[in-house]
Amino acid sequence: MKLYNTLTKTVDPFLPRDPKTVKMYTCGPTVYHFAHIGNLRTYLMEDVLERYLRFEGYTVERVMNITDVGHLAGDTDTGEDKMVAGARREHKSVYEIASYYENAFFEDCRRLNIRKPEKVVPATSCIEDFISVIKTLLDKGVAYPAGGNIYFDTSKVADYYTLTGHSAEALKVGVREDVGEDANKRNKSDFVLWFTKSKFEDQELKWNSPWGVGYPGWHIECSTISMRELGDYLDLHCGGVDNIFPHHTNEIAQSEAYLGHPWCGHWFHVHHLNDETGKMSKSKGEFLTLSLLEKKGYDPLAYRYFCLESHYRKPLTFSFEGLDNAASAYRRLISRTAALPREGEARLLVEKYREEMRRTVGNDLNTAMGITLLYNILKEKAGGRARREALALVDEVLGLSLLEKADALSAAEGTAGKLCGAAGCAKECAENGRPAAPDTRENGADGDPEAEEIEALIARRAAAKKEKNYAEADAIRAALAERGVTLTDTPAGTVWSRR
Ligand SMILES: [Zn+2]
Repeated sequence: MKLYNTLTKTVDPFLPRDPKTVKMYTCGPTVYHFAHIGNLRTYLMEDVLERYLRFEGYTVERVMNITDVGHLAGDTDTGEDKMVAGARREHKSVYEIASYYENAFFEDCRRLNIRKPEKVVPATSCIEDFISVIKTLLDKGVAYPAGGNIYFDTSKVADYYTLTGHSAEALKVGVREDVGEDANKRNKSDFVLWFTKSKFEDQELKWNSPWGVGYPGWHIECSTISMRELGDYLDLHCGGVDNIFPHHTNEIAQSEAYLGHPWCGHWFHVHHLNDETGKMSKSKGEFLTLSLLEKKGYDPLAYRYFCLESHYRKPLTFSFEGLDNAASAYRRLISRTAALPREGEARLLVEKYREEMRRTVGNDLNTAMGITLLYNILKEKAGGRARREALALVDEVLGLSLLEKADALSAAEGTAGKLCGAAGCAKECAENGRPAAPDTRENGADGDPEAEEIEALIARRAAAKKEKNYAEADAIRAALAERGVTLTDTPAGTVWSRR
């Protein structure tokens, strides 16, 4: 495939060192709070990239870290430790905070069809490894102790700004003025590898080291975990654009100083999701989470569809209007898929669309064109089976659960068709062996057959959710939405409204 490389600033052929296996590293979440949907956009696009590489036949060895220590709130080495701040906010220990938000993060991923990487490594499990890498950096003369901390000396690296493409001078101008300077640093861009002098009296997580009791800096985490799990050469490193500087810049500096050779060949960065007021952030009070979208009645995969419509290298602005449009397009796609006949010759279209995938998604991950392919398949003259098979091929990469949702929709519509729905007929229907609509007259559905049918479907959806059959539950919601019925889940049960 061809993929933009932040290192070269061009769309390059992606060529792993081993032609069969891709070693892929993803900067994982700092688990001090829920992920906002902007964070999730990055993981979602990385997931499509991984799926595409598998589609091309590669084995993907993927590693993600979990930052459960030492991530300071500032862009540099200042500010409060995010984990400690989170624990204080919620009156919990740092470990409790970490495990709660790690679980919440992977639950969000599951709902968005984001695969969990094979290896997920918490930073707190690698303290000895960090210490060993820092020792080597000191031995090589590229790190120095000052004021109780160990710093990386960026002046020892010939092309420290290689990833940003800026000169040192240009970047100095852009350095944020609100970040307090650390007087121990020899150079402005130096960064901390190991802290023993914490500004926080109540820093909970501390370990012994040759330099005193303390904790690691954030950047050393990813370099060390990547080298430990994937070896001395990495094919693909992923993250959000805000990681380019300083985080990934520092990762390259310390990894290559440690190894003595170039480290990672391809850097993949996903652009920001903005809200209508600007960049999305967790510091603005209530922020947009996947759970909030679900509470408002959105299918998480409608958000996936919304993200796939845009290119990963462009900033994307989130609005509920935009999400509504994506959600209804996604529902239409599901119902058109559900309407496909099941007969006909299979396999006719698959090869054609395998090539189409290479031409579109294989060209710098053009996911919007991938969605267009789904519509093109639906318009094909081939039989239903062939079209379903081609849809499955494309959706293996896009991850929209299209056939699963379409089948659940067909099943739900079948259930709805078999329900009698006539008011007051429970007795006759039961006697005739047909499932009767529940008696919902007390809920205000009296005398309105459509309302009774809606109530029956809502009851069926509640039962499906209880059975953890989310595909069917989602399909019922989608079927009702097609008819202009909106469901809202409240603590007291589901309420509905009709257009
Ligand atoms: Zn990282």
